[in-house]
Amino acid sequence: MTIKYIIGHWTAGMLTPNKIDLTSYQLLIDGNGELHSGLAVGCTSSTGGMNSITYNISCCGGLSSSKLTRIQVEKFYSVCAEKIKEYGLSVKEFYTHAEIGEMCRSGLITKLLPSNQYLKQNIGKVDLTILPDITGNAFETGEFIRNKILWYLNQ
Ligand SMILES: [Zn+2]
Repeated sequence: MTIKYIIGHWTAGMLTPNKIDLTSYQLLIDGNGELHSGLAVGCTSSTGGMNSITYNISCCGGLSSSKLTRIQVEKFYSVCAEKIKEYGLSVKEFYTHAEIGEMCRSGLITKLLPSNQYLKQNIGKVDLTILPDITGNAFETGEFIRNKILWYLNQ
């Protein structure tokens, strides 16, 4: 399987992963910034219609009662940079799940892959639109994250 994109998520659950969280992504980061392995690429239902071509990294939490922590999102940015390098991608191939949802809504998603019936499952996702340092729409927070990842890529 060829990985073409890195997709950022949150679990919308607790700051520590439960059994379902651990089988829903390739990699998870808990509230203390510790990594947890998920399942192999193509074996999770992370990003509708894109699971065979995406590596999915999720921050545990994201609810008002489980807000993402600073140490967690910093680890997330640095791990995204590592995975971008590992798979020979660029920072432009990182998207949040919320951005994918907006691109599915507008039809722009066909710039990333041919349309398929499962892509509409992503519409309405809000993953990572609330971070410790910024709250915004899908593209504002996506751009903020790409800038953070870029900083780690340049280290
Ligand atoms: Zn998601």
